[in-house]
Amino acid sequence: MKNVIVIGGGAAGFFSAIHIKENNPNFNVTILEKGKEVLQKVRISGGGRCNVTHACFTPKELISFYPRGKKELLGPFHQFMCGDTMEWFESKGVPLKIEADNRVFPVSNSSQSIIDCLFSEVTRLQIEVKKSCGVLAILPKDNTYAIQTKTATFIADFVVFTPGSSEKMWTLIQQLGHTVIPTVPSLFTFNIKDKRIEGLPGLAVQDVTVTIKDTKFSSQGPLLITHWGMSGPAILKLSAFGARILSEKNYQYQVLVNWLSDTSENVKEQLIAFKNADGKVMVNKRSPFEKFPKRLWASLIQIVGITETTRWAALSTKTIEKLTQELVAGTYHAQGKSTFKEEFVTAGGIDLKEVNFKRFESKILPNFFFAGEILNIDAVTGGFNFQNAWTGGYIIGKSVGN
Ligand SMILES: Cc1cc2nc3c(=O)[nH]c(=O)nc-3n(C[C@H](O)[C@H](O)[C@H](O)COP(=O)(O)OP(=O)(O)OC[C@H]3O[C@@H](n4cnc5c(N)ncnc54)[C@H](O)[C@@H]3O)c2cc1C
Repeated sequence: MKNVIVIGGGAAGFFSAIHIKENNPNFNVTILEKGKEVLQKVRISGGGRCNVTHACFTPKELISFYPRGKKELLGPFHQFMCGDTMEWFESKGVPLKIEADNRVFPVSNSSQSIIDCLFSEVTRLQIEVKKSCGVLAILPKDNTYAIQTKTATFIADFVVFTPGSSEKMWTLIQQLGHTVIPTVPSLFTFNIKDKRIEGLPGLAVQDVTVTIKDTKFSSQGPLLITHWGMSGPAILKLSAFGARILSEKNYQYQVLVNWLSDTSENVKEQLIAFKNADGKVMVNKRSPFEKFPKRLWASLIQIVGITETTRWAALSTKTIEKLTQELVAGTYHAQGKSTFKEEFVTAGGIDLKEVNFKRFESKILPNFFFAGEILNIDAVTGGFNFQNAWTGGYIIGKSVGN
């Protein structure tokens, strides 16, 4: 009988253990968890509702949500992706729902449903879960591994390494010969103190393009003005894709905001056309852009020197150019970052070059597998980080012993 030790009782650990045991009923599968409880991140995820995956059903589109791991996950997603996750949970008696923004949650709106489901599978399959059992060392020994905790040593024929983001575990895996890409935060909001957005917290603009100045990093989507700066999907996505460069800049950088996601030529043309057609109208009363928030419009025109009593007809070419610039390439100075709803995700982890993604197996250590956040894979918010854990766990389940 073969012994499988899964290190870490999180989403990736549970999903791996369940699938290993399903495929190898004769194997002894044990989960070692450092904490007093397992699945703690699942519990708090999605504000306690657990955003379990995302309603995206083509691998090519799905990988676009992963700043790190994009190339490596394409093949695995052809084997197991969002639709499979939904089918799996539903087949185990957890009905799911797709919300308007395509995030997928349990119908119960409670992460407890996901926890109960994973637990009942682990119980049904007689997988042992050892809590308060933190792994301190792993020693390769002949064709096995000796796994040491405070109170015992476990001998494993196969190791599944899923301890999430853990400094100690990164050091341990480095000692075993793997490279760890240093970690930096991902998914954060931008701290910006700027007159143009002062007094506008809560205001959302639907289709904005934001770019980190002098870089190729850019993203498009809704932007939310907050008390401390900017947030919303466009900013969070940019923070994830630019995670490493923003860390290098010590979170001091310039953001170019294109409030209309349009070209300066088009915007200028619309401003001139509006001036010619509605010259008598006060600039602060109406803009050519139907859905543009009135309070933001009022703020931006003030910045370029347009007063409350200025009429469209009075705008000089120079002012129109300044206003165009403000609308399509306003420069904002970001100083620092804030955590998004405590959903801190880290970029960094085990170097993906050292992992065979056909099996989620180490290229350095035989019979040693990785899944979840320990890998240098992370995604934007929306259920994608769990999907990485489910996909890795499923493929490990098929690979261990085969
Ligand atoms: C507040 C919050 C909300 C989130 N919400 C969502 C969401 O709604 N949707 C989504 O897709 N993603 C979400 N995420 C991200 C998601 O939770 C993670 O990507 C996912 O939990 C990673 O799973 P994992 O199993 O790799 O790691 P983890 O869930 O971190 O599990 C690792 C486990 O290993 C244990 N461990 C660590 N060291 C040792 C050791 N030495 N020995 C034994 N055990 C050890 C840890 O205690 C832990 O239980 C959220 C993250 C946070 C912080």
